Amino acid sequence: MKFALVTGGSRGIGKAISIRLAEMGYNILLNYQSNTEQAEITKALIEEKQVKAELLGFDVSSKKEIEEVLGNWIDAHNEDYIEVLVNNAGVRKDNLLMFMTDEEWHSVIDTSLNGFFYITRLVIKGMLVKKYGRIVNVVSLSGLKGLPSQTNYSASKAAIIGATKALAQEVGRRGVTVNAVAPGFINTDMTKDLNEKDFKSLIPVNRFGTPEEVAHTVGFLASPEASYITAQVISVNGGLYS
Ligand code: NAP
Repeated sequence: MKFALVTGGSRGIGKAISIRLAEMGYNILLNYQSNTEQAEITKALIEEKQVKAELLGFDVSSKKEIEEVLGNWIDAHNEDYIEVLVNNAGVRKDNLLMFMTDEEWHSVIDTSLNGFFYITRLVIKGMLVKKYGRIVNVVSLSGLKGLPSQTNYSASKAAIIGATKALAQEVGRRGVTVNAVAPGFINTDMTKDLNEKDFKSLIPVNRFGTPEEVAHTVGFLASPEASYITAQVISVNGGLYS
């Protein structure tokens, strides 16, 4: 059976991506950290698309949890194969660099960057054996442009952009593409502290984006039709930065 693994799939952009990939016919492995209630709601929405959904709760910043939960799932499912991996889980802990705590720095880097590394290293083996796979990393405008109070977040996303381009060159011959999607301001829990009215005049399309607008781009990059697109960063930001 073919699966798509979406990290941080319970809420926001990851939820929309999971539903989009389910519409494309993928069975979904839905990772989340702690919000089981939301994960169950998203699981039910995926199942409405007549595919399977399995919840995999683990902290993407923990190598131990990744190897235990995801590693065990892979070992126990010899007949199944994760064809699409979307590294989406991420957190914001904004602060000016001079006041930034060790915890604010490490938790943001560990969640985005270490999560990308440990999960992708596990999942890519199956793709290379099958000679087909799609990896999409959800990064950010902040990783392209840099945003004040986000040195931790900008650094983690910029690092993943570099890793996306490097990994794409390692695995292109084996039918595996690796791309990144860089959203601008998207209406989710992560941006609920930001007032859209204060920011929208900066955005050419004059509004925040929706999780579904990001999900459609991820869905395209995850499709067989995107086979000649790799090592790219696609912005979904209403024209805010190019
Ligand atoms: P969100 O609404 O805050 O949702 C975050 C999701 O990630 C939840 O499913 C959460 O799980 C999960 N998560 C957080 N930390 C995790 C961890 N350590 N291990 C496993 N899962 C974890 O965020 P979002 O706005 O959808 O953002 C999704 C991605 O898009 C992030 O990488 C973010 O950096 C990026 N992004 C967002 C925006 C934006 O404007 N929203 C813009 C640019 C980029 P629980 O439900 O269990 O907490």
